[in-house]
Amino acid sequence: MSSAPDSPRTAAQSNFIRTIIDEDLRVGKYAERRWAGEPGTAGVHRGALPDPAVIRTRFPPEPNGYLHIGHAKSICLNFGLAREYGGRCHLRFDDTNPEKEEQEYVDSIVDAVHWLGFEWRDEQEDNLYYASDYFDELYRMAEWLVEAGHAYVDSQSAEQVRETRGTLTEPGRDSPFRNRGPQENLRLLREMRDGRHAEGTHVLRAKIDMASPNLNLRDPALYRIRFASHHRTGDKWCIYPMYDYAHPIEDALENITHSLCTLEFEDHRPLYDWLLERLAEGGFFDKPLPQQIEFARLNLTYTITSKRKLQELIRGGHVDGWDDPRMTTLAGLRRRGYTPEAIRLFCDRIGVAKADSWVDMGTLELALRDDLEGKASRAVAVLDPLKLVIANWPEERVETCEAPIHPQQPERGKRVFPISRELWIEREDFAETPPKGFFRLFPGNRVRLRYGYVIECTGFEKDADGRVTEVRAQALEDSKSGTPGSDAYKVKGNLHWVSAAHALDAEVRLYDRLYANPYPGAGDADHLASLNPDSKKVIRAKLEPTLASAMAGDLHQFERHGYFVADRVDSKPGAPVFNRAVTLKDSWGGRR
Ligand code: ATP
Ligand code: MG
Repeated sequence: MSSAPDSPRTAAQSNFIRTIIDEDLRVGKYAERRWAGEPGTAGVHRGALPDPAVIRTRFPPEPNGYLHIGHAKSICLNFGLAREYGGRCHLRFDDTNPEKEEQEYVDSIVDAVHWLGFEWRDEQEDNLYYASDYFDELYRMAEWLVEAGHAYVDSQSAEQVRETRGTLTEPGRDSPFRNRGPQENLRLLREMRDGRHAEGTHVLRAKIDMASPNLNLRDPALYRIRFASHHRTGDKWCIYPMYDYAHPIEDALENITHSLCTLEFEDHRPLYDWLLERLAEGGFFDKPLPQQIEFARLNLTYTITSKRKLQELIRGGHVDGWDDPRMTTLAGLRRRGYTPEAIRLFCDRIGVAKADSWVDMGTLELALRDDLEGKASRAVAVLDPLKLVIANWPEERVETCEAPIHPQQPERGKRVFPISRELWIEREDFAETPPKGFFRLFPGNRVRLRYGYVIECTGFEKDADGRVTEVRAQALEDSKSGTPGSDAYKVKGNLHWVSAAHALDAEVRLYDRLYANPYPGAGDADHLASLNPDSKKVIRAKLEPTLASAMAGDLHQFERHGYFVADRVDSKPGAPVFNRAVTLKDSWGGRR
């Protein structure tokens, strides 16, 4: 979907998930639930007060990387729905896979969700959970499944399991271990847990149907042996639950009503339901059980939304870390100058659908422009400086000029900066011989120095290579902006400038899209082959002196150039470094 920028959708717009929730609420589907104040099985919740949350959703990241813009869609959806309906949204670290998870990622996720403006804590509840806290419960339920004949230990190799799974057109074949008795299965499962078997020698599988047309129901694995240290449980466990086993149970323990996930899990839903039905029969959970609902994942052009590929960019040295301003991680977007409001606005505008599609990067950039237009203070920056000398201006004379902090918000006051004999102007604002329609500076032409005087170009100098090194002009004495009669001068060009003696000399990073190709991650394509070689240009620019006091994270519109943020990492007091967040206009429309 290329959601048209001129038809922004609003948060109140309905979608199929709201329709489901509305109907559930109308029939009172979840009205009888009880909540003990913390996650637990039926025994824990039964007898507690009715659940105060009308609905419960959750955002369940695996802490194996930093969150990206795709996760923002899921966060806005889950936390947004909970907020809207008077429910609760849990932040749950889905840390059942020991190998790739780290505390650094947990911390970055907590930061990112808070930064986006969402909260899992209130006066009554603190809904931050770790799937690894449920390892005991998960294991207890596995033993019950074995005893009830719903699961068995398979001692085939991974290779054999794969070979006997069948295909979309062929049924699978039963494992020779499928009819082991519950007592033998239980003994083996406990031995697995106790570290008595090597990795890969056994797996615990659900006993469902090897002939099911849905491959996910062909006796899926529930537990595997992994002698790996876990970032929270250390070496306590050497068997770890599979996602398809753990996830529905985590949801049920937390009283989740609507478990929203991306479309690739649609075929897993029958397993989700099968497992919870069995465990409800076993008395672990009361009905109604949580329901899984799938929505389309966000695919954004000119970027990738996969932690694994983002990781590859870092490993290959193509970017400077997870928070590189070109990364569409939330940490990178933040450093780039994105605001939480812009990202939430973007998520509102793209909505949720039931079919996968691509959203144009321009939609994200437009959301940032729309958010910053009314917020960002204005400032002047000369990015490619060329010296302008006003020949009739005395050397020692310095005057001040005034400009609004925001042209539509006079209440925000004015900024004041000096003008003197030597100024910096933008190199592209001067032409030796003007092309047709060029209204800026060229010999004999008059322009206004924005917030200053009207000048007339009298000449220029060049170096041996023919490069213009200096432009000369005369100021018209009675033309200063804001003084009586100054508008008697009619000129077409209006140039920005800074006083050379007073300018702040600063590093500015001109960021552009990280990829040159709109679909860098599509299919099996090697995304690294599509990198945009010009995604980062570092320059030294001449800035309005008032910018010296910019604090890390401050956002400005540099007139005519775009929105820039004082870099949060590299700015020093009095010496900010600026990142270009986005240009004023979309310059990618015609480029491909
Ligand atoms: P990745 O492939 O980048 O690792 P993931 O889906 O494996 O993504 P998780 O940490 O498991 O990452 O995801 C947490 C939640 O965010 C899940 O509910 C997932 O569906 C959702 N999510 C992840 N990527 C997207 C996306 N591109 N669009 C919408 N939701 C997403
Ligand atoms: Mg994942």
